[in-house]
Amino acid sequence: MPIAEHKNVLLAHGGGGKLMHQLLKKIIFPSFHNRYLEQQHDGAVIDINGSRIAFTTDSYVVSPLFFPGGDIGKLAVYGTVNDLAMCGARPRWISLATIIEEGLPMETLSKVVESIKEAAAITGVEIVTGDTKVVDKGKGDGIFINTAGIGIIEKPVNINPQNVCDGDNVIINGDVGRHGMAIMSVREGLEFESTITSDCAPLSHTVMNLIENDVKIHCLRDLTRGGLASGLNEIASASNNQIEIDETLIPISDEVKGACEILGLDPLYVANEGRMVIFVPPSDTDKALEVIKRDENSKSAAIIGKVKKSDQPIVLRKNSIGITRILDMLSGEQLPRIC
Ligand code: MG
Repeated sequence: MPIAEHKNVLLAHGGGGKLMHQLLKKIIFPSFHNRYLEQQHDGAVIDINGSRIAFTTDSYVVSPLFFPGGDIGKLAVYGTVNDLAMCGARPRWISLATIIEEGLPMETLSKVVESIKEAAAITGVEIVTGDTKVVDKGKGDGIFINTAGIGIIEKPVNINPQNVCDGDNVIINGDVGRHGMAIMSVREGLEFESTITSDCAPLSHTVMNLIENDVKIHCLRDLTRGGLASGLNEIASASNNQIEIDETLIPISDEVKGACEILGLDPLYVANEGRMVIFVPPSDTDKALEVIKRDENSKSAAIIGKVKKSDQPIVLRKNSIGITRILDMLSGEQLPRIC
């Protein structure tokens, strides 16, 4: 059973699930109470004399540094770019702060920097400021990265968890669980018939396409730690609605399904790095799906559920034989240091 009170911080406090949200609610939110944090968005949307920017930050501690389909450098750019995109902003400027462990091979550092450079070019962001710190051998783990990002909200869109309402359709932009399973197979030395590659990818192009095509978006959430289940629970709780999803409609690759079965994991809780849920009103659902599917990374996008007005902000999952159960937020820690 998960214990609600802890004297010390556990790995699970950084897992994106219940304990992390408890920590935020008990220590962080009450200390820094303001209207930006209250929205529980992926970034802060700030109005500066009529122009709106999105501002966000994220730290990257993934282990191993390189994995099938990506590396810490790619994650550090795409993760922050994606949080800006979730606010409806075009990502523009990024900071790069590194905490390097003494002894890290220069070649490894160069490879990570090269990867950051490539990811920045793909997403059209500039690395405009940064910091470099080195800690003693044994006091870090190769390299940790923090990036903060600023994006510009160019159109009068209002994308926010609080906008989610009764009747909204929930769209996912592709199959779930690949990032978590890719990391786990490398770390645990598991060999499957075919290598599972991370879904690590930028979402900004897809979001910009939706906005440029005037698709009415109520809310966006990128699915990272805690997987689809935790992302949906965050939105249900922030918008005070019930979300009902149909398990049979969620795209999952055979490789991920098989690996999850062997390890006893539920793919709905496994981490992603290039997946998002899009909340749209019925009037704009077809158009949204068509625009999303134009992206190579989102060919298997699908409608997976619906929002219902309710007094209880819960997520329900309906399985293949029609049985409905509660899909709770991740409790405990499935796999630490995943991003
Ligand atoms: Mg996010």
